[in-house]
Amino acid sequence: MLTNDQLSLWDRENFFHPSTHLAQFARGEMPSRIIKTGEGVYITDRDGNRLLDAFAGLYCVNIGYGRQEVAEAIAAQARELAYYHSYVGHGTEASITLSKMIIDRAPKNMSKVYFGLSGSDANETNIKLIWYYNNILGRPEKKKIISRWRGYHGSGLMTGSLTGLELFHKKFDLPLAQVIHTEAPYYFRREDQSLSEEEFSAYCANELEKLILEEGPDTIAAFIGEPVLGTGGLVPPPAGYWTAVQDVLKKYDILLIADEVVTGFGRLGSMFGSDHYGIEADIITSAKGLTSAYAPLSASIVSDKVWKVLEQGTDQLGPIGHGWTYSAHPIGAAAGVANLKLIDELGVVENAGTVGSYFKKAMTEALGDHPNVGDIRGEGLMLAVEFVEDRNARRFFEPSLATGGKVAGALLKRGVIARAMPQGDIIGFAPPLCLSNAEADAIVDAMKGAVGEVFS
Ligand code: PMP
Repeated sequence: MLTNDQLSLWDRENFFHPSTHLAQFARGEMPSRIIKTGEGVYITDRDGNRLLDAFAGLYCVNIGYGRQEVAEAIAAQARELAYYHSYVGHGTEASITLSKMIIDRAPKNMSKVYFGLSGSDANETNIKLIWYYNNILGRPEKKKIISRWRGYHGSGLMTGSLTGLELFHKKFDLPLAQVIHTEAPYYFRREDQSLSEEEFSAYCANELEKLILEEGPDTIAAFIGEPVLGTGGLVPPPAGYWTAVQDVLKKYDILLIADEVVTGFGRLGSMFGSDHYGIEADIITSAKGLTSAYAPLSASIVSDKVWKVLEQGTDQLGPIGHGWTYSAHPIGAAAGVANLKLIDELGVVENAGTVGSYFKKAMTEALGDHPNVGDIRGEGLMLAVEFVEDRNARRFFEPSLATGGKVAGALLKRGVIARAMPQGDIIGFAPPLCLSNAEADAIVDAMKGAVGEVFS
């Protein structure tokens, strides 16, 4: 067997890690972390450390690690037929069955599923479909896409532009010209402290309308948003937000993409965040929970309204000029079918709701009064704790102190993986949806210890 030292050396010499400080990693200032096994909510590294993964990888392992049913389905598919494409009407039992299972679970107005491999490529697909849609409808100038500051939609050229985080733009010559950003619905960080949640939602909708009018409604094709802001801070929407936003979009005939890469398939305690918040999207983006990350697969779920125009387009132009070699890859599809069955059998969607409430309550009881805890917020099994230097003045720490990173480090020492979110001192939790109350208690205990250490 290879030694850890050997692997670490090869790692530094050969492996270009995504979202990593390249120079620090190459200089050996960051450890190489080599993960070996997973079971339930735990992973084990090659040194034998067993860690409670309270972020489910990248909030994707919804059913938990080590589910043999999914592994068997993948192996059986690989043995029978590892690959065939899905162009020109081809498919497999797995891909056809999975499309049916998705439409059965999706909001009622959804009609068809386009399969890709990642959340990013699904959102690239969505924007292309929307441009095609408006061209077919004879309105070629209606092309701009509005997303929110702090939204996360991927890291391709278009999707990295949609992502409203500076780090994803700086020095990459992004955002592209067709993308514009509006206010994040981040109640804790609202400028005007006197606003109620409903008033802040109305303010956000008003900012959106102002932007649409400034740009010209005839130039705006779509709005994209996550039901709950994810990477931008794990922020549930303020009361009334989605109703207020949808009223504005309808007024100007602007399509809505619900990016449910994180919230799809159970994370909020509902199958989709759209159902949870009464969002009537024209396209839903899904990935992560679709296979619980046992294989890469994404789905652009397209409404009947959009589909009808796409059909019209191919009657005019011929086959749609959009396809990936690995669209509806049989192994991903087989993983998806087995995963969706398990999601039902294990009852993890309901569990995310009940354990999620328990977890938030326990975290609030443990840390709600701490002088450096500014906000504890969450929905289902998405929970965030935001730290502040001064709670009364709502003053934030200097970013260079990396306070959030220090808390994440102190948690890791206590055997719990959480994520220091990229913009602010925010610790995010999004564990597998099979989390138990006892495991939630273990995370809260570790958090009490970590906070005690960092703010002593
Ligand atoms: N949309 C959202 C809401 C996401 O959180 C992510 C990834 N975290 C993506 C899109 C992009 O997915 P991927 O990394 O699979 O390309």
